[in-house]
Amino acid sequence: MDPARPAAHTIGIWQGRIAGLDEQVADLPAAETADLGGAVVLPGFIDAHTHLAWNGRRTIDVTGLDTVALVQHALANAPGTAWIEASGYDRRIMDRPLTAADLDAISGVRPVYVADLSGHACVVNSVVLRQLPGITSDGWLTENEQLAARTLRLPYSIEEIVAELRRSADQALAQGVTMCAEAGIGAGLIASSPLEAAAYQRARLPIRMQLMVSAYVLHDVAADPADGIARAIDLGLHTGFGDDMVSLGAMKLWTDGGMIARTAALSEPYAGTENVGQLAESEEFMRAAIIDGHNAGWQLAIHAIGDRAIDFTLDAVARAQSARPRADARHRIEHCGLVRPEQLERIAALGMVPVVQPTFLWAYGDDYSEIMGPRRAPWMYRGRSFLDHGITVAGSSDRPVADGAPLRAIEFMVRRRSSSGRAVGPDEAITVEEAIRAYTLGSAYACRKEHVLGSITPGKLADLVVLGDDPRTSDAIADIPVLATMVGGTLMPQRSA
Ligand SMILES: [Zn+2]
Repeated sequence: MDPARPAAHTIGIWQGRIAGLDEQVADLPAAETADLGGAVVLPGFIDAHTHLAWNGRRTIDVTGLDTVALVQHALANAPGTAWIEASGYDRRIMDRPLTAADLDAISGVRPVYVADLSGHACVVNSVVLRQLPGITSDGWLTENEQLAARTLRLPYSIEEIVAELRRSADQALAQGVTMCAEAGIGAGLIASSPLEAAAYQRARLPIRMQLMVSAYVLHDVAADPADGIARAIDLGLHTGFGDDMVSLGAMKLWTDGGMIARTAALSEPYAGTENVGQLAESEEFMRAAIIDGHNAGWQLAIHAIGDRAIDFTLDAVARAQSARPRADARHRIEHCGLVRPEQLERIAALGMVPVVQPTFLWAYGDDYSEIMGPRRAPWMYRGRSFLDHGITVAGSSDRPVADGAPLRAIEFMVRRRSSSGRAVGPDEAITVEEAIRAYTLGSAYACRKEHVLGSITPGKLADLVVLGDDPRTSDAIADIPVLATMVGGTLMPQRSA
């Protein structure tokens, strides 16, 4: 991934960094040498958008269960006496939608919470609904109503979160991931506790972590007027604070929902419906968060999936930038799922970075193509058109919303085929090298870490992945075995994924 030296055969490592390549290190003594037998070595994969606590949470898994009876069976006899929590629910495949009444049959005393796999919806029982006066529902809650239900369950303990993070970090490592950026801690849709950062600090994970802080934790501060900062988080901490293992990343803001839950905000309705999705908050609230975050020195990570949410995002970021220009603010658009052709120029002009999830289309591309219709389906989770407009693309998984394996995502970016074999936006295909770049240098750039990560370059941190085959010549990239992963010069033990 280093254009100055695209290939090498020997990597010298000293004190956690790449000391040199080939002839630069040939005459140096080494305390230890490892012969990889001709295996392919790449920079470690960087997953620019994950939810590791959620991913590692031990809940009842209802993934793939497609009848109410099967879900009820899975929930029956849940251990413990407090909340009964399940995840992986997929309303789209059910014989009929699960309701509160169905869950009341499981327990009329314990709160029951069944999370939709999108992260944007859930089904709860009457015990939960009774604690949510003002919400009228048969049990299905989306977006802010879901958040209200979830808030009743929070917080998880730091110890619980640490265990969840360790499970997820081992899984990521086994897939060749050496760094993850956690998308929205402290408050909001995905948060586990207001003290979440403490869990990352305590966990001492084997991979590098960058924490995106939820915009909901911004609060008024008594800064000197000359600072121009109206709202901040405590101590004025912002993007860039921390070290190579744990750092603060962007400020995360949600502007719409998602395609799985049909809540992504579109400029034209979902095919065959009147539904145009929804913005996550009032425009005033979201615009103020963008402007205040920008002014307080944050990089912004703005969740926008539908083209209407992206319009809003581009307008608000343009406004923030014209009021107070920041040359390398590098604001991100999380997901950037449906981009109309004329939006490409604007994304490029604002220097924004789309953080895409190619595996969404591998897993859900058939469904998404149907709900977007034939005209818009080729605009989803773009690749080629971003690069042709000079836009840096960052790879990510949104684990656990989709499978977290980078090689799966890279294969999709190249082939643009869903798991059923359907072509999804084939004109957006990119080369293997470009796809690897998105998952290494591109995601490092999105995390403002490209000076230390993302390529095998002398001086950078020694984060590497060793593969059993060459992705450039493989016809089954997703199946290439990950033989070893190195973080900061240490070969990490491979636990099963
Ligand atoms: Zn996410």
